[in-house]
Amino acid sequence: MSNAWVSALSQLDEAAEFMTLDENLHKVFREPKRILTVSVPVRMDDGNVEVFIGYRVHHSIARGPAKGGIRYHPDVTLDEVKALAMWMTWKCALVGIPYGGAKGGVRVQPWGLSLGELERLTRRYASEILPFIGPERDVPAPDMNTDERVMAWIMDTYSMNQGYSVPGVVTGKPVSIGGSQGRAGATSRGVLYSALSAMERLEMPIESTRVAIQGFGKVGGFAAQVFHDAGFNIVGVSDYKGGVYNPRGLNPTALMRYKDEAQTVAGFTGADAITNEELLELDCDLLVPAAIEDQITAQNADRIRARLIVEGANGPTTPEADHSLDARGVYIVPDILANSGGVTVSYFEWVQDIQAYFWSEDQVNRQLRDLMAASFKSAASLAEEKGVRLRLAALALGIGRVAEAHIARGLYP
Ligand code: NAD
Repeated sequence: MSNAWVSALSQLDEAAEFMTLDENLHKVFREPKRILTVSVPVRMDDGNVEVFIGYRVHHSIARGPAKGGIRYHPDVTLDEVKALAMWMTWKCALVGIPYGGAKGGVRVQPWGLSLGELERLTRRYASEILPFIGPERDVPAPDMNTDERVMAWIMDTYSMNQGYSVPGVVTGKPVSIGGSQGRAGATSRGVLYSALSAMERLEMPIESTRVAIQGFGKVGGFAAQVFHDAGFNIVGVSDYKGGVYNPRGLNPTALMRYKDEAQTVAGFTGADAITNEELLELDCDLLVPAAIEDQITAQNADRIRARLIVEGANGPTTPEADHSLDARGVYIVPDILANSGGVTVSYFEWVQDIQAYFWSEDQVNRQLRDLMAASFKSAASLAEEKGVRLRLAALALGIGRVAEAHIARGLYP
């Protein structure tokens, strides 16, 4: 069993006990609703055929169509995808958007592929999961190593099979084919709003808050920019190749320019080289893990020096680390709350596609900020009222709403 799936189950079990969840519903929630495993044969540029394994998991559709990203990564496993799908279910319910939870992934090393290979892989994977997806069934979005170009290919593959354009089949598309203004930066902006809400409670001033960010991709890279623009001091960033540290502050625009050339932030001049382990343990006030699962564990939790952790990634903190950080007074804004800006603006995109009526970026950002502030407030109020961690309160709220939907619908047949 992967650690992510163990973590997801252990979080569900803890929340079920805390909220005295009905035992039968608890049993239902421990299993994904349906799982599709596909083989994805791809003609490579050298003429050979490689076969990749892909998955799409629906954890729940009780509250609406399944929703969740697609990940391309060599470490993708079915257990990991199951965990990510379960977290999507709780996240959508927590922020009150009418979706269930899904996730997909292909076990592939995407940075080794040419553009043509990537397109053929994407179109074949999309056609293999075709019976699962659709605007009313399941709406994929970008995740690690997938982007708006990949979403455009999936939208096109689906549409060619229908015989007409169906923009609402995926979110995170280019604006030219029905994408939303503000979607690209939505997850990072949501991470910023979550940090600001937590800092208000902790009475932490922006100017003296030193930020370290793990992962410099769609979430972490843009987070560095929006935190910098909001007046924070970004002291450390990293990606899969390593990181850089400068206590006087890093310039995200210069970092982004360097990364575009070097494909990594490692080696950026004017800063000290650090490892990913060192990044997590930096002398900073706010840590934003925005890379992958299982980064803050029982092994390094004692050495984390940040006072506040805002989880941009899904599942970056294991349950053991979560408890030990809490015991040391570290405040954690959990993934299902902190990174929910992405799926929230995905929801706005889907609504705009269905109505064929598009909003301004201002409207998107305003509605995102209001929704995230309201979700934070309801989770933080419950946490304070019951004297529990923000994660437990957020999970209980999300799971509670899914339970309500199940009870209202009844058990079929
Ligand atoms: P991405 O592929 O754009 O970027 C991932 C970044 O993490 C890259 O900089 C990569 O080098 C780095 N990385 C990968 N493995 C690493 C490792 N072992 N150690 C250190 N760095 C590593 O992916 P993304 O979309 O930014 O997603 C990052 C995380 O955020 C994932 O957990 C994803 O599930 C989560 N998330 C993404 C979105 C979204 O809208 N893209 C929304 C919610 C949550």
